[in-house]
Amino acid sequence: MAQNNIPYKIYLEESEMPTTWYNVRADMKKKPAPLLNPGTGQPMTAEELGQVFCEELVAQELDNDTRLVPIPDEIRDFYKMYRPSPLVRAYCLEEKLGTPAKIYYKFEGNNTSGSHKLNSAIAQAYYAKNQGLKGVTTETGAGQWGTALSMACAYLGLDCKVFMVKVSYEQKPFRREVMRTYGASVTPSPSMETNVGKAINAQFPGTTGSLGCAISEAVEAAVSTPGYRYVLGSVLNQVLLHQSVIGVETKIALDKYGITPDIIIGCAGGGSNLGGLISPFMGEKLRGEKNYRIIAVEPASCPSLTRGVYAYDFCDTGKVCPLAKMYTLGSSFIPAPNHAGGLRYHGMSSILSELYDEGMMEAVAVPQTSVFEAAEYFARVEGILPAPESSHAIRVAIDEALKCKETGEEKTIVFGLTGTGYFDMVAYEKYHDGKMDDYIPTDEELAKYRAALPQIG
Ligand SMILES: *Cc1c(COP(=O)(O)O)cnc(C)c1O
Repeated sequence: MAQNNIPYKIYLEESEMPTTWYNVRADMKKKPAPLLNPGTGQPMTAEELGQVFCEELVAQELDNDTRLVPIPDEIRDFYKMYRPSPLVRAYCLEEKLGTPAKIYYKFEGNNTSGSHKLNSAIAQAYYAKNQGLKGVTTETGAGQWGTALSMACAYLGLDCKVFMVKVSYEQKPFRREVMRTYGASVTPSPSMETNVGKAINAQFPGTTGSLGCAISEAVEAAVSTPGYRYVLGSVLNQVLLHQSVIGVETKIALDKYGITPDIIIGCAGGGSNLGGLISPFMGEKLRGEKNYRIIAVEPASCPSLTRGVYAYDFCDTGKVCPLAKMYTLGSSFIPAPNHAGGLRYHGMSSILSELYDEGMMEAVAVPQTSVFEAAEYFARVEGILPAPESSHAIRVAIDEALKCKETGEEKTIVFGLTGTGYFDMVAYEKYHDGKMDDYIPTDEELAKYRAALPQIG
């Protein structure tokens, strides 16, 4: 076994960095359901999508067949500033847990934006620039996506307009200032700058906003400003494609040392980091070459996979976006205000939804105090201060490692450590002060949101 000479951190050489993204849809027998035009109920055409998104990104969104998509040199050059990212053997965590399991994490927090989102931000900004656009609009919740996009736009000289969920805008002033440092304009959402923002403010006076609402505003701002398009940091097929760089690198690193994972774990908000991490492994599974346990981890307060329904739904509150078939809680669902752990989107990537529906992966929902318990434990033994989102994956990696301790099985566990939590100290503070609780929606509540799903098919 090569296990003995496995370094603490597996760093790939720059020359080993992937030259192509891997499109898992090419290996799916049943393709993810297409986006639908809410007006006609017909699949969105490239032309329709092109009014909102950049051309090349539309092509990627609709391409279910090209297995390997070349990563343009300009994007690879940017990746080289912070990639390949390390695959770390969590020796200290293993020892502390007293588990025979071998635990690895792919660490995506090693860039200033602090998360994996930069992998897609630079790609989307690049295609916008290539099309000769002036700028892009987007929404951000906790702020990681807005930060990543601001960095990418600054690098390419693109204008960047971010609608930031009002509650985060107010509670995370430092996040906001990072974005402004990179030259983005940041507007609290719902704002009075868009028709949909005005309507939402009128209907829900004093609302602190939601991701779905900020998406509607950003889309409206893009389609009503010449030379602008809208970009989204998760959920879409194109985003999972860009994030496949995480999984392809992970696979190259594991293969280099002859390691085969048994379990692959990732947190799931809109599904981009998980979709990216698992892509090449899922490909092997789909082609019948290998078998892995793949686990999506979501918050118990926003449980789209474990308690949602697989149906067409709106992607945003203002219902201006196409309909997507996904596991969803309903587009009007907003997690309880005391939910601090991120991953608050009501739906899930269509690719992951389809794979989950086919039984190709599992999902678990974890309560937030247990997530912060795992986060703190991890910080103390491994040194990294994890993002609350990432800590969902840590929680389940620890749980699986503890099961191995009971059974004596030497399983190999790989999980995605998507980012750092420096801007989440208010949430950590709540946890430390014992002021965090675990709000879990009741079946009655979920049924209410489900009843509002659009009736399609
Ligand atoms: C945005 C984010 C997530 C969740 O988004 P996905 O699209 O599900 O990956 C997870 N971790 C961090 C650090 C994030 O910023």
